[in-house]
Amino acid sequence: MITAVREVSVFGDAIAYFNEAAALLDLEPGMRRLLTRPSRQIIFSIPFQRDSGELEVFTGYRVQYNFARGPAKGGIRYHPGVTLDEVTALAFWMTWKCAVVDLPFGGGKGGVTCDPTTLSMGELERITRRYAAELVEVVGPDKDVPAPDVGTTPQIMAWFMDTYSMHMRQHVPSVVTGKPLAIGGSRGRVEATGRGVSLVTLAQMERMGMSPRGTRVVVQGFGNVGSIVGSMFAERGCSIVGISDVTGGYYNSKGIDIGAAIAYAQEHHSLDGYRGGDRITNDALLELPCDVLVPAALEKQLTVRNAPRVQAKLIAEGANGPTTPEADHILNQRGIVVIPDILANAGGVTVSYFEWVQDRAGYFWRESEVNERLADVMHENFARVGDIATMRNVPLRTAAYMLAIDRVVQSMNTRGVYA
Ligand code: NAD
Repeated sequence: MITAVREVSVFGDAIAYFNEAAALLDLEPGMRRLLTRPSRQIIFSIPFQRDSGELEVFTGYRVQYNFARGPAKGGIRYHPGVTLDEVTALAFWMTWKCAVVDLPFGGGKGGVTCDPTTLSMGELERITRRYAAELVEVVGPDKDVPAPDVGTTPQIMAWFMDTYSMHMRQHVPSVVTGKPLAIGGSRGRVEATGRGVSLVTLAQMERMGMSPRGTRVVVQGFGNVGSIVGSMFAERGCSIVGISDVTGGYYNSKGIDIGAAIAYAQEHHSLDGYRGGDRITNDALLELPCDVLVPAALEKQLTVRNAPRVQAKLIAEGANGPTTPEADHILNQRGIVVIPDILANAGGVTVSYFEWVQDRAGYFWRESEVNERLADVMHENFARVGDIATMRNVPLRTAAYMLAIDRVVQSMNTRGVYA
């Protein structure tokens, strides 16, 4: 059972980062007003039948933040903490993420306030089909293209695609990405976010003169992103000294056997009871002695409370919004380098873009081709962000926002405002 705690507006925090970069870009007030408001927010009820026969109603959301560069793009989250505020923040981040890696997409995000760990496959399927049916008019390959996020899976994307296709009376695989391979998914999509995090982190480590061999890494969250990041760092010779999931953390100064931890989590559906390290709390995990810290769970994990005690030299944000603006300020002052979420975890949406392209062409690429193109996109835009950071003497996060905002504003100015 997952519990949810919400204190301050996630969207409010997200805007704070935007404002910092907008000020450095001298963005005119009208454009600022436009970019700090979502284009469209949709809230709806999702009635469905429990396996027991009981009728239940959940709340569903889809926020389409910006369409200047293309169709809205962003995942669907199933979690008890899903609110309109959170989904709006996530859609806002997607706008900048797609722009920072130069994809022809705007930003969107969706979610259902529910605890998927307590739902059967049948219940999940009924919720997903109703969610998709409610959005039939506003999603589509040229309108808004969802994908998986926390609590959703390739199978859930398959039900979404099937429901949409049934309503359209035709096969429309490109309405959603992160699908299973059998129905138009892309090779390499499952690993893409973690692969992208590893690529930019290794590039930054090189800049900082850190050799992968023996580098101590801590990863918070052991789902799609966290587990892949762990195994990719381990492959490069890093020592993964801490891992965690919602049930708690595990520390082993000699290094955790990531393959064994993944096998354990797959068999038991969580790390609970894992014996490859000492049991610690998620709070303690973030303060462990290490070189690289990868928050890959949820928002607001690094705050004013723990930022002064973080021991890592480098933080790569696998999750969206894991660092509050106040914590970010402390980390910057302490000289800890942060690779921001909109750049660090953009590998997932990049391969989602490749999937959309492949579906539309009806021609599928080899995995090596996908990985090679992903590496090109990540390295090229990481270098651009790094150059802006050096030239303007700003942290990587501000530089990433500056690059992304500039690209979105260029598209908006070129299109003009239809008023
Ligand atoms: P997931 O559902 O596969 O895994 C989430 C993991 O976080 C699980 O191991 C869960 O137990 C753990 N977790 C949840 N609450 C926690 C807590 N309070 N403390 C510690 N661990 C906790 O989700 P995911 O797809 O791996 O996504 C993780 C993060 O990465 C999210 O912020 C998501 O928005 C972001 N992200 C995901 C993708 C993607 O392609 N999957 C792409 C970009 C960004």
